[in-house]
Amino acid sequence: RVVTRFAPSPTGLLHIGSLRTALYNFLLARSTNGKFILRIEDTDRTRLKSGAEQDICDILNWCNLKYDVGPIRQSDRIPIYEEYANKLLETGAAYRCFCTKDRLSTMRAHGYDRHCLHLSDNDVRRLFDAGHTRPVLRLKSPNKYDSFQDMLHGTVNIQERKDRVGFDDPILMKSDGFPTYHFANVVDDHLMEVTHVIRGDEWLPSTPKHIALYKALSWTPPNFIHIPLLTNVEDDKKLSKRKGDTSVLSFKENGIFPDALINFCALLGWSPPRAIAKLTHECFTLEELIKLFSLDHLTRGNVKVDYKKLLFFNKQSLQRKIANESTLLQLVDEIAPSIQKTFPDTVSRDKIRSILKLCGQSLTKIDEFSSHFAYFFERPKLTVEAVNNFIGPNDRVRIIEALRYLANQNFQQDVNGLVSNTSQQLDINKKLIFKTLRFALTGPVPGSKLPALIQILGPEESRSRVIAALA
Ligand code: GLU
Repeated sequence: RVVTRFAPSPTGLLHIGSLRTALYNFLLARSTNGKFILRIEDTDRTRLKSGAEQDICDILNWCNLKYDVGPIRQSDRIPIYEEYANKLLETGAAYRCFCTKDRLSTMRAHGYDRHCLHLSDNDVRRLFDAGHTRPVLRLKSPNKYDSFQDMLHGTVNIQERKDRVGFDDPILMKSDGFPTYHFANVVDDHLMEVTHVIRGDEWLPSTPKHIALYKALSWTPPNFIHIPLLTNVEDDKKLSKRKGDTSVLSFKENGIFPDALINFCALLGWSPPRAIAKLTHECFTLEELIKLFSLDHLTRGNVKVDYKKLLFFNKQSLQRKIANESTLLQLVDEIAPSIQKTFPDTVSRDKIRSILKLCGQSLTKIDEFSSHFAYFFERPKLTVEAVNNFIGPNDRVRIIEALRYLANQNFQQDVNGLVSNTSQQLDINKKLIFKTLRFALTGPVPGSKLPALIQILGPEESRSRVIAALA
């Protein structure tokens, strides 16, 4: 049975790359009837951010990526790591190292000189008694790391640093008593029976160490799938905050829907079969993704993150929600309070619903509502400048004539009829009348279709606005 895990470190806000990792692990588990684990890798105590774990759980829930097990916190499992640390000590696969920071800093870039490899039990006891710094535990690494198989990259051979003269001997247990990422990660993946590790390419260089650890513990490593780096559209460099916030929370707060974000993330390194992509414009729900996902369609090269596509998916998602009465009402519930705050006297839930239903096609994000549709809630301010701009030098007389005529009409009738009539009566072309009427109703903004406008404003208010425009 397939078992996958998402293993974030709670060091800050979850960003879009991590969400993609979580999603692929989730999709692989769901599409194979497997198990999906959430594991919080919080053993680097210096980098913890309070609230980060909660943020991770909230975001996964918001995106509907339900985990079957977890969150399991590594800091709750210290005795387990100690147990395996002792095993490695016993077999000689690992050793205690008492070297001070100062000593180590002299050889940092060149590897460790194994000064502590051959300490006898007596030496160790003596150092402990002398109250020497608490030791770390180091893996006695092989002289050369083995190449390994990655399901996406095939055989991977990570070259050692050319300038290294000492040994790698990665630290497994730190002097603060916590395991390092490498050690806890390997122990947990084994004990949790993880079968597939999907993670970012940045972990490729760590994998040989992990494999060496599996070997030292006589365990079989899981399958590794390292997914490609995300880059900026503009310069193809590693996705950076400077080019716009990449945290999932910031997307959420900016009116991006979770289904749109998931759709977007799914395509950052995976693509559906071509025929399906064409047919669907790559718009997929989470359920559809579960059906379609497979490791065979992962991509290997860098992936450019183009937020235009995210907005496209968001617009699609918004339109779907508007088209369905029950999700439409949910939307109304969500936005009503803030709109009521902005326009306390003129808002009703019913009006918001009608606006979305009749004019919502122009929205990409729901938080554009207030700025797009302010004219439904307050009369447009027809400044002298706006009026002059609108009228121009030639049409002045005819526009005023049209407004005067319209001010006396009944707006209950069908708008097209109203416009045609006015046009015939005054011998003014229809287009100009449409334009005039729209300007009187909404001011100088790109407005919605006239029939919808009048239906939402109501005949009374529409006529009043025409009269007001004459003033
Ligand atoms: N804790 C690591 C991270 O923050 C997990 C890497 C892995 O999946 O092995 O990304």
